[in-house]
Amino acid sequence: MFGLIGHLTSLEHAQSVAKELGYPEYADQGLDFWCSAPPQIVDTIRVTSITGQTIEGKYVESCFLPEMLAARRIKAATRKVINAMAHAQKHGINITALGGFSSIIFENFNLEQIKQVRNVLLDFQRFTTGNTHTAYIICRQVEQASAQLGIDLSKATVAVCGATGDIGSAVCRWLNVRTDVEDLLLIARNRERLQELQAELGRGKIMDLPEALPQADIVVWVASMPKGVEIDPAGLKPTCLLIDGGYPKNLGNKIQRDGVVVLNGGIVEHSLDIDWKIMSIVNMDVPARQLFACFAESMLLEFEKWHTNFSWGRNRITVEKMDQIGQVSVKHGFRPLLV
Ligand code: NDP
Repeated sequence: MFGLIGHLTSLEHAQSVAKELGYPEYADQGLDFWCSAPPQIVDTIRVTSITGQTIEGKYVESCFLPEMLAARRIKAATRKVINAMAHAQKHGINITALGGFSSIIFENFNLEQIKQVRNVLLDFQRFTTGNTHTAYIICRQVEQASAQLGIDLSKATVAVCGATGDIGSAVCRWLNVRTDVEDLLLIARNRERLQELQAELGRGKIMDLPEALPQADIVVWVASMPKGVEIDPAGLKPTCLLIDGGYPKNLGNKIQRDGVVVLNGGIVEHSLDIDWKIMSIVNMDVPARQLFACFAESMLLEFEKWHTNFSWGRNRITVEKMDQIGQVSVKHGFRPLLV
């Protein structure tokens, strides 16, 4: 059995969907209440591969909300992640993806040190961040959506916002060796980590966002921001592809300008309908078929019976591992969301 640990994008979002999830008593509650709410299994899932194989899974709502980080409720945030992991393990789930901020909190606050959660001794082999598949899907979106829009990668400048992150650095590695992209712009706040990445890649220009945006033909957004940034579309190139891989979304505003295309990044479409309700709650356009690539990674690991933490730790994703997960992604009928 596979599992997905997820969370909603804001307190407002959580309050509005509490009833749909079967928890009407949560609907009028504020952040304090969500800080103390325990994890819940709120959906049972059946997925069939195009090979004919069917697997079962569970969705674990961690009750984490990004406002907990903004309000510096760090203890509550870390408790949400670790308790959701223990809950998944206690329910016999073999491989569980840590969606959205779950893996970021796990890494940022060294939760690997916390192994005992009440009577559960956490077995980290049973969890994956899902970031290898997410990075692979974003790279395929860069390649395929740029072709759809007539952007020639060999003449294109790609800016990666969140370049030094787990997903961002993997995207940079792939673009560096698998494509002939002309220029790479590397954006994040910590200069030292940017310089390390630049040295590893042997290329790339370190830039601030306002300097990079007017130069980019493609912008990949994979920064871990609890709230999105507002950008002025007038400052972008006449044709520009924005791939927003953040959860919550990195782009705070809906951008409407001729020539500018915004694509939901790190999202896959399955070839067959999936029996679940959770993706309508996170507002996917086609909830029976579209899902986060990190969630799809745990499904792939279950289909292949690779019950291991395929994606784990930070900045260790190799192009070879992206190929490996990419092959089974295609085999089981997942494809990147396109324009
Ligand atoms: P990491 O924490 O590993 O990396 C985050 C990156 O963003 C770092 O480079 C960080 O560098 C940078 N960053 C953070 N804040 C800012 C800022 N204000 N301005 C510019 N750069 C910033 O995160 P992941 O790579 O694990 O995840 C990235 C995003 O992808 C998250 O939003 C996550 O929720 C989403 N995600 C999507 C999935 C999907 O299936 N679609 C799956 C998993 C994650 P610095 O701190 O130096 O600024």
